[in-house]
Amino acid sequence: MKLALHWKIIIGMILGIIFGFIMNSVDGGRNFVSDWIAPFGKIFINLLKLIAVPLILASLIKGISDLKDISKIKKMGLRTILIYVGTTVVAIVIGLTIVNTIKPGTGMPQDTIEKIKMKYENDAGVSDKLMKASAQNDAGPLQALVDIFPSNIFTALGEAKMLQVIFFALFVGICLLLISEKKAKPLVDFFDSLNEVVMKMVDLIMLFAPYAVFALMANVIIAFDDTEILLKLLTYALCVVFGLALMIGFYLILIKVYTKKSPLWFLNKLSPAQLLAFSTSSSAATLPVTMERVEEHLGVDKEVAGFVLPVGATVNMDGTSLYQGIAAVFIMQVIWPEGLTFTNQLIIIATALLASIGSAAVPSAGMVMLVIVLESIGFPAELLPIGLALIFAVDRPLDMCRTVVNVTGDATVSMMVAKSLGKLHDNPKPKEWDDNYEAVK
Ligand code: ASP
Repeated sequence: MKLALHWKIIIGMILGIIFGFIMNSVDGGRNFVSDWIAPFGKIFINLLKLIAVPLILASLIKGISDLKDISKIKKMGLRTILIYVGTTVVAIVIGLTIVNTIKPGTGMPQDTIEKIKMKYENDAGVSDKLMKASAQNDAGPLQALVDIFPSNIFTALGEAKMLQVIFFALFVGICLLLISEKKAKPLVDFFDSLNEVVMKMVDLIMLFAPYAVFALMANVIIAFDDTEILLKLLTYALCVVFGLALMIGFYLILIKVYTKKSPLWFLNKLSPAQLLAFSTSSSAATLPVTMERVEEHLGVDKEVAGFVLPVGATVNMDGTSLYQGIAAVFIMQVIWPEGLTFTNQLIIIATALLASIGSAAVPSAGMVMLVIVLESIGFPAELLPIGLALIFAVDRPLDMCRTVVNVTGDATVSMMVAKSLGKLHDNPKPKEWDDNYEAVK
């Protein structure tokens, strides 16, 4: 019997975790993992990133030129953005409700705070986040808008600037609709063929996924050192995980009610992408797999998936904004309780929404933007390093979990937009890597 891909990935993850713990306890084990095991995880992530840009370009250009109707593009764009904003606001409100009810930061013993402060306040990771946040902050208010428009498409492609690539692809796609069909055909065929090739690359790369997640998980485990501090932050971490679980529940309700599909079927088909989101902590690296699952397994048409998912990977981060709401209030409960006003919480809703749009889809980007959320409510600058130090120890596992929610949210919205445009197909036929292998081997 052939084991389903998600089971193979789960087995790889569990073995990686066990292996990581064993290596943690033997002399030189950590070095062995980082020198000899971790690079295989890195190779896998590199391969996924390698195909992300050509995939967005090809599927979006091909998809838009298939639409044959510019008003549909407008509709799709507007709906996507509205639903994205809506789900993100729901996420932040869920986060704030949980953290204000459970109050994980109230009454934390002073000696624990001191201990965490000593260990992480001057940590390179914490100062790195603060530096990146101040670079973001220096930009003008419309910089994010300016950044969507590339001045050089090769730089945009080379630096994988997602929104710029999406803009270019939309621009090309629309112009292909505006020229005669005869003139458009060679380019449309070219991108169609490129799309097929890149999708096949996803299938081939995924053959390697179970081994790669082994390497990724082992590498995550060797980074955990202080379990005592981890336990002290357990209530905070559980609040985030609980909120994220509620968000997944919310998506499943949307799937059931709006698209009339079975939530279990949805999870089953999407799970390889969710597991990769968990192992890589990056929705950008997961994007090619998300696109493959959503198009070939969930039945969303190319033009919808090709637009909604790359845009979502960049601007829709429900897990990240939920986390930012909880983390900001948690930090205030511990070291700045006087800041806990209702107005500040409203400001958090607005800034966490903007911050999740501005966060890059890479590991721990959410923590960088958290600094900006805190600054927006007048959080004292001298307390910032302590604030970040407080949550730093558990950030990686929470990053893994919130990335799963980010990816699931994008997939849910793509299903909803597809349904609303009549572009959700009932019996999608997934392609396998070896569909054509017999003929050429
Ligand atoms: N790692 C997240 C993502 O890529 C972003 C974050 O919350 O740090 O989706």
